[in-house]
Amino acid sequence: MRLSYLVVAGFRNLESVHIEPGQRFNLLYGLNGQGKTNLLEAIYLLGSSRSFRTPRLSELVRYGENQAQIQGTVESGGMENRLRLIIEPAGRKVEIDGKAVHKASDLHGKLNSVVFSPDDTGMVRMGPESRRRYLDRAVYMGDIGYLHCWHSYQRILKQRNHLLKNLDKTGLDIWTEQLAETGAEVIERRLRFVAVLDIKLQKYYATIAGHGETSRLSYQPDGVQATERQQIREELLELFKKQQRADERYGTTTVGPHRDDLMFLLDGRQLKAFGSQGQQKSFVLALKMAEMDNLHDIFGEAPLLLLDDMSSELDAQRNRNLMEFLITRDIQVFITTTERSPALLAAAPHCAVFHVEGGNLTFEGS
Ligand code: ATP
Ligand code: MG
Repeated sequence: MRLSYLVVAGFRNLESVHIEPGQRFNLLYGLNGQGKTNLLEAIYLLGSSRSFRTPRLSELVRYGENQAQIQGTVESGGMENRLRLIIEPAGRKVEIDGKAVHKASDLHGKLNSVVFSPDDTGMVRMGPESRRRYLDRAVYMGDIGYLHCWHSYQRILKQRNHLLKNLDKTGLDIWTEQLAETGAEVIERRLRFVAVLDIKLQKYYATIAGHGETSRLSYQPDGVQATERQQIREELLELFKKQQRADERYGTTTVGPHRDDLMFLLDGRQLKAFGSQGQQKSFVLALKMAEMDNLHDIFGEAPLLLLDDMSSELDAQRNRNLMEFLITRDIQVFITTTERSPALLAAAPHCAVFHVEGGNLTFEGS
């Protein structure tokens, strides 16, 4: 996939940007607070209609304006698509080739991008919720069916929780059965994804950090041993029944995939507790590379890779390892740094260079 043209207007501090990104490497450099991350955020939004920084649309619209616009031309599978996203504090609109689209699934796969930003490492140290959010989004990117079952699960969970708070619990069994049914699908799809990603993660961690440490990704749903949907369903049902008393007491469903965690392990130990900062960063980066590889397998084309603030993220050796690997892959990369890094430019042939200053981009050649 290639983003061959990009227009951003009224988005954060980007007043009016028109660029033709390079086909392979793009370096966006500039001082702090100039708009580098904002540009990556705009690219990510164009493909997913979600920000990787905030769920609040109002933050994205430039102060004093009432609308932000992002437009781009995407080359994929020998075709060209024009994507357009209009963001207003109250909502967003997506157009593909001039036609309004209303379902998230219509945009799915049109412009895939994987982002690695300093904030991502936070999910290692934070509570399970942030890892679950990551997992759900990552599964969905390559598995369009996931969104539907995830929404169903959330809807049924809400109904069941509502009933658990009621004095009259008529119908609880039916909701519990439905929860087990959709919950089993959520778990099965997550398990399938994690099994694939775990293998790729090991490979990419070695690529970035060198051999010596083994990294693992593990998803062990609470109370579930099975890996096949019907059996998962039965185990979930048993779990819900066992917990029913507690659930009634607390007025909420205390177990299930909405409470599960994704485990990050380095040499068999919890990365959260034992990994150094650099190891945690390398791990999350390897995870993102694994995701990129997985999307490549699924769509037959690599997604865009958005690497935010690379200079601060890894040591020189790990950065070199990463660049050496990226050169071998057919992938469009956007890298932001605070300086026009000579080492990076030497490593990335034909890199298009853009200077970012006060929300404006200046092309400096390639
Ligand atoms: P750093 O190197 O520190 O990461 P950066 O170049 O990535 O910097 P960005 O995060 O892209 O910086 O841009 C931050 C700038 O955007 C800040 O100056 C902030 O005030 C401005 N900004 C954020 N949201 C808006 C908005 N809605 N309207 C106008 N400006 C905004
Ligand atoms: Mg930034």
